[in-house]
Amino acid sequence: MTGTIEIDGSYGEGGGQILRTSLAMSLVTGKPFHIENIRLGRKKPGLLQQHLTAVNASARISQAEVEGNVLGSKKLYFAPKTVKPGRYHFSVKTAGSSTLVLQTVFPALLITHGKSELLLEGGTHNPYAPPFDFLARTYLPIISRMGVKISATLKRHGFYPVGGGRFNISIESTGKLSKINILKRGEIKRQIARAVVAKLPRSIGEREIKRIGDKLMWDRRCLHIEEVTNSAGPGNVLTVEIESEQITEVFTGFGERGVSAERVADKIVLEVKEYLSAGVPVGKYLADQLLIPMVLAGGGTFQTLPLTRHTRTNIEILKQFLNINITSSQLKNNVWQIEVRTK
Ligand code: AMP
Repeated sequence: MTGTIEIDGSYGEGGGQILRTSLAMSLVTGKPFHIENIRLGRKKPGLLQQHLTAVNASARISQAEVEGNVLGSKKLYFAPKTVKPGRYHFSVKTAGSSTLVLQTVFPALLITHGKSELLLEGGTHNPYAPPFDFLARTYLPIISRMGVKISATLKRHGFYPVGGGRFNISIESTGKLSKINILKRGEIKRQIARAVVAKLPRSIGEREIKRIGDKLMWDRRCLHIEEVTNSAGPGNVLTVEIESEQITEVFTGFGERGVSAERVADKIVLEVKEYLSAGVPVGKYLADQLLIPMVLAGGGTFQTLPLTRHTRTNIEILKQFLNINITSSQLKNNVWQIEVRTK
């Protein structure tokens, strides 16, 4: 069909982000797209429950015409009409990530004048997805700085494999985003490690935070345990939060069977050390997630760690929807700068 953007879902990173970015950009530009080879780079390719929920949520807020929105589908046609802010409830029926469903519809609601109240259900703390804490402490505060009033509340943790988590988010948009630059981290103001244990022994969390304290040489006052009793299933998440003057970054690890609490902590310690020694403000996950808001604001610059495949892939997909300049340059060994400019 003429005017339809053709996307290859197996390009670059080859995961769900290509689909979510395409949906998000289709919603904000009004351009229809057709995607083939959805998630061909993954073990179970095609639309899983989480992706299908994201497709249907995108269709709901824009009364889109959709073909191929069935479980397992490797192709999809999506043509949005007008995006309508409002009250919506989106539920991933499995433990699939509800924050990634939000990531899909969020950009359109950010630049459409009006108020939205969303209830999202599913996984809230999943490996390979933004955990709710990252959303609330890292991502949303930056979006707020771009001029949108946002608040998010976690109602219940949702862990793999049971899911059943939920959170609310309210978005009040004036219809535009302001440009921001994130070039410095500033002084560290606060650092916290928090182990959440849900329906599992507290000792797991105790071992995790002890290891963080030992390896990062942090005082006991920086180390916290939260015992969660209202989640549908068991789970364990360890987060380390570095609050600096300009930005807060959250690093996350998950307890799993057969992996010691110490190993979960050690993996995070490596990430935290890499981030701190590079001296950059933006961590590797935030980097790929900042691109869409910066494109919608019409520009912005940030410094980050070496670019991930997610970031590189996302840049290419964004360019298929809009005529924009996104340049990346290496400033030092572990320091990269990304600049978004409208042509
Ligand atoms: P995909 O693998 O294509 O489904 O995309 C995963 C998305 O989740 C990307 O936007 C990542 O930046 C994001 N993500 C994965 N792990 C984390 C994490 N630990 N913290 C924040 N975001 C994450």
